[in-house]
Amino acid sequence: MTGADPKSLTIIGAGLAGALLATLLAQRGWRVEVFERRGDPRLQGYAGGRSINLALAERGLHALRAADAHGAVLEQAVMMRGRMVHPLGGEPQLQRYGRDDSEVIWSVSRGELNITLIDAAEAAGAVLHFDQGLDSVDFDARTITCSGNGETHVHPFNALLGCDGAGSTLRAQMGAQRDLGERTEWLGHGYKELEIPPAADGGFRIEPNALHIWPRGRYMCIALPNDERNFTVTLFMALHADAGNDDPDFDSVVTAADARALFERDFPDTLPLIPELEHDFVANPVGSLGTLRLDRWHLGGDAVLLGDAAHAMVPFHGQGMNCAFEDCVALADCLESHADLATAFAAFEADRKPDATAIQDMALENYIEMRDLVDDPEFLLQQALERKLQERHPGRFVPHYSMVTFMRIPYSLALERSNIQRGILVTATRGLDSLDGVDWAAVDAEVEKRLTPLADAA
Ligand code: FAD
Repeated sequence: MTGADPKSLTIIGAGLAGALLATLLAQRGWRVEVFERRGDPRLQGYAGGRSINLALAERGLHALRAADAHGAVLEQAVMMRGRMVHPLGGEPQLQRYGRDDSEVIWSVSRGELNITLIDAAEAAGAVLHFDQGLDSVDFDARTITCSGNGETHVHPFNALLGCDGAGSTLRAQMGAQRDLGERTEWLGHGYKELEIPPAADGGFRIEPNALHIWPRGRYMCIALPNDERNFTVTLFMALHADAGNDDPDFDSVVTAADARALFERDFPDTLPLIPELEHDFVANPVGSLGTLRLDRWHLGGDAVLLGDAAHAMVPFHGQGMNCAFEDCVALADCLESHADLATAFAAFEADRKPDATAIQDMALENYIEMRDLVDDPEFLLQQALERKLQERHPGRFVPHYSMVTFMRIPYSLALERSNIQRGILVTATRGLDSLDGVDWAAVDAEVEKRLTPLADAA
């Protein structure tokens, strides 16, 4: 079907970005084929089986609106108003993300979201092939070879759009043609998923409308609610021992007994909530985390990468999918507004790469904030000042989290302004233990001088 047809595009991967991009492009009149390595999740259940969830924010929602898929997604989502911080031995405290319920994030099931988007892509006219993993690309013959279920097929293509995730095969095939400048910075920390099941009466065991965090310095647990009234718990900690501290690590916490001892010591309030702790700890794999950086995302008009295939990031700002969804809209727009594919791919890369780099860097910074700072008095005082300055300078001093999560201004602009704002907050609260001693005239003058009013991207 595709071949040399200039109005056809071939997407590799029907994950979150691939399925959304297929929808957007098919809706705009492109003939779209999608090749996915896994089986059809509507027939055989979502691979992995466990209910893994993700935080959906305004950038992702906006992209879903563009595909008219937001209604179906929000029906299955659980609202999260803020972080519920669980200190060791203390009472949990809710730190709101925004000013009110118009500024919230949503917990969505990865499997349900993927299925909704696959349905949307097919309804829009895209043709999806499951159990067809990309093996290789012949850029001269303009064919791809895909295999699955013991069969191998060769398909012609006009241009390839790489949505095949962090371990992208298309990226490797492109890299064999031209050096993409690829490097991965491994975090040295990994993660393991556990579960808080529903209570005996079928309800949630803890506050449902929050993202729960158990911060413990250099490691932490988090929990996000699911609409089945359970929570997916994720433990983040070092992969290996660090000579500089005696923190736990995945090399030494291995057995069921190790896991129980760790949770008894550091997360005792979660023990009654996670009845299958020992079983799940041993059964579930340790995931690794890293930041993938590339110098180039496209090969002329032949192929382009987006989402995790182009810029995988650590998950601590909850923006990997949101950023991937923004990519999909940006690429669809570029394809519409440029006469040829090579120019469109180049414009997409020029537009999105600085922003992807910015959110990758902010995601790394946010790990420190989540695991260490959310119960730190200096940080909490800075946050209190941040809220005051937002009231005193509406539209000019916008909290970092709001710029990233509730707005669609470029990530790079959010990073630039966040750095200025952090400087103002740190200077104004230095040596203080409450906002009483703040020199408001000096702070207001600094805000006026260094920050221009901010208009949201409409
Ligand atoms: P993927 O979702 O990885 O999809 C890739 C698809 O390509 C898959 O379907 C795969 O089967 C397919 N594929 C792979 N290889 C081939 C091949 N050779 N041929 C054909 N198909 C292939 N982001 C958020 O926005 N919010 C969050 O709260 C959040 N939490 C996260 C928590 C964790 C622990 C992790 C690890 C990530 C989190 N993310 C979050 C990031 C998010 O999961 C990714 O950014 C997002 O899944 C990227 O989408 P994608 O479509 O680019 O890649």
